[in-house]
Amino acid sequence: MSEAGRALACSVGVVHAERIRVWRVDELPLPQAPALREAVAAMGLLGASTLGLTLGHAVLVRHGHLDIRIASHEFRHVHQYEKAGSIACFLPVYVQQLVTHGYANAPLEIDARLHEAASGERGEHLLLRASDPSRSDP
Ligand SMILES: [Zn+2]
Repeated sequence: MSEAGRALACSVGVVHAERIRVWRVDELPLPQAPALREAVAAMGLLGASTLGLTLGHAVLVRHGHLDIRIASHEFRHVHQYEKAGSIACFLPVYVQQLVTHGYANAPLEIDARLHEAASGERGEHLLLRASDPSRSDP
């Protein structure tokens, strides 16, 4: 990730921004188990409108949707994972919030939305590595 990407991650509280890897994907992965798949669908997670998914320091964003707003939102989830200590510690709390409050009102989602940067700016430059000769920043 570029300096700009790391700076954005740090600005929303990420401690180990250097560990973040952002992948642009055609489809967000669904759980293999049918029961989990149904639960995920029932909670409104990973539907057609879902653009990003964060698991620890791994951030997946659908092709064509990486912008500053999405990146800052998903990076805030990275911060939440770091605070929880692990994926295994974070996910049960997060899923319980979705079940109890629904996606829009889950405290961890509200927190992520409060840390979103203004939308509009494309986010590809966030991914350029510092050593990338095509980087556009001076
Ligand atoms: Zn979110």
